[in-house]
Amino acid sequence: SYPPTMTIYDKELPVVTVFGDDTSDLGKPRLVILGSGWGATSLLKDLEPNGYYTVVISPTNYFLFTPLLPEATTGTVEARSLLESIRYICRTPRAHFCEAEAYDVHLKEKVVEVVGEDGRHFLVPYDRLVVAVGAQNNTLGVPGVQEHTRFLKTIADARRLRVELMTNFELAALPTTSELERKRLLSFVIAGGGPTGVEYASELYDFLHEDLINYFPDILEKDVSVTIIQSADHILNTFSMAISAIAEEKLRKHKINVITNARVTEVDSAAITYRKKNVPKGEPNTFVLPFGICLWSTGIGMRDFTRRLVGKLQQQENTRALEVDSRLKLKGDPNIYAIGDCATIENPRMLEIVKERFQKAGMDRLTYQQFQSVIGSIVDQYPQTAVHLSKLRSLFDTYDIDKNNVLDLDEITKLLDDVDKKLTSLPATAQVARQQGAYLARKFNSLAFTPSDLRPVVEQTLPPFYYKHLGNFSYIGEKTAVIDLGEGRTGGGFGVFLLWRGAYLARQVSMRTRVLLAFDWIKSKLFGRDVSR
Ligand code: FAD
Ligand code: MG
Ligand code: MG
Ligand code: MG
Ligand code: MG
Repeated sequence: SYPPTMTIYDKELPVVTVFGDDTSDLGKPRLVILGSGWGATSLLKDLEPNGYYTVVISPTNYFLFTPLLPEATTGTVEARSLLESIRYICRTPRAHFCEAEAYDVHLKEKVVEVVGEDGRHFLVPYDRLVVAVGAQNNTLGVPGVQEHTRFLKTIADARRLRVELMTNFELAALPTTSELERKRLLSFVIAGGGPTGVEYASELYDFLHEDLINYFPDILEKDVSVTIIQSADHILNTFSMAISAIAEEKLRKHKINVITNARVTEVDSAAITYRKKNVPKGEPNTFVLPFGICLWSTGIGMRDFTRRLVGKLQQQENTRALEVDSRLKLKGDPNIYAIGDCATIENPRMLEIVKERFQKAGMDRLTYQQFQSVIGSIVDQYPQTAVHLSKLRSLFDTYDIDKNNVLDLDEITKLLDDVDKKLTSLPATAQVARQQGAYLARKFNSLAFTPSDLRPVVEQTLPPFYYKHLGNFSYIGEKTAVIDLGEGRTGGGFGVFLLWRGAYLARQVSMRTRVLLAFDWIKSKLFGRDVSR
């Protein structure tokens, strides 16, 4: 039982334990989930009722299907088709929803401090806490970004971009608008050449060529420009080189300017300033580009809530995300889990692990059998190492440099050092968040009826999280998409476009949004996109 109020930093705050009338699960362990995005929703979808008193806290009372946000900026799909009510998703696991923002966690008291839309703070106790609050846009500290650019992360962002796009076309079509001004209004500048930037550019191209051209006969193609500014030397640089090349070719064909090796240094209300890298001495390296709309999509950063939590735990050293172990438990607190964009799985320092074992056992060399068992136990604990630790026989032989059929300390050091260097963190994608949510659901389902004192022990016997890469898509315009399945397997074309749409239909959280999306696609195919504001 909990007291009605608690004093936190001299402030007395109410403690809220009951949400709504359904009290059937009160008295069970309290599971509190922060967020209603990809991670939280996939956890809720697979969570079985009866195990917990579950409370979901999020400032948005819906799930947003982010991969199709770029399509909502031009009206290929309607914004509402990308939303599903979180209260609907909460019904099956009998979870309670509370529209509020998590502000802080008080670890000793095991309560989340929450603030509602009305600005009032209250406390929600937990036994298990899942942090799935996602990430926020990263301005990289560039002046003017917050004020003058647009982001594409929320449904409000997509709606605003759609309205501004039409506003700019109507302004450009006014008889009083000069040619120079028209060109500025119709200049779309995109900072960031990742999937979001590329998809937004491709949507613009489609909209222009399939619809706007019919309605704005006085606006010429030469008045419209789309520019992507990318700091790396290729766009889509998290995809394989083959994909980058296909996409760059397609964008070139669509007359989308791609400026690589360039960094935005400043943004003001109507122009962006960027600097090219590696420019020969004496030549200009700084350029100013006027814009009507500037989309900023250059990666993600920590939310304030996440930063507060990191600040409380000595074990948290990462500055970009919450560090979790391979069972998705927050380093430093056994009752908290973190998934999705706000979390990153720590990579094992294998070299240290193995050296420690060597010292303990007083060994200085491994036979092939010993090597197999050591590597086997590492892979069990850290599944993300598996891809680099397969084909053990040839690995052993490659690193057994003196060919004496044992790996001595130098040889094993070299091997593990090489593998450590290859381990990267998982990307911030819906796919990762979704698999992590499903993993936690499985775990919570099987731990639901374990007595609380046995839980940590039993949990350690359950398998760690293993990420299965199912491929990354990116839409590149004109009914063409590309897919990267990893390990050099790639594809592109109309077939991949169909696969892309099919996959997204299959991934819908409800039949309702599936039907809405299908109708939207048919509607825009039959009648074109709506060009009214
Ligand atoms: P989110 O889905 O962002 O959910 C975070 C949730 O937390 C939201 O409900 C939010 O309201 C809530 N929240 C925020 N602050 C608080 C707080 N203080 N307290 C409580 N709740 C809070 N990934 C892919 O795999 N494929 C794609 O094609 C793809 N396309 C994308 C296109 C766009 C335009 C964008 C923006 C992202 C795309 N992604 C894609 C990435 C994907 O959306 C993210 O990786 C994914 O949403 C991460 O899930 P999450 O649950 O961690 O966070
Ligand atoms: Mg989430
Ligand atoms: Mg979301
Ligand atoms: Mg992550
Ligand atoms: Mg040897």
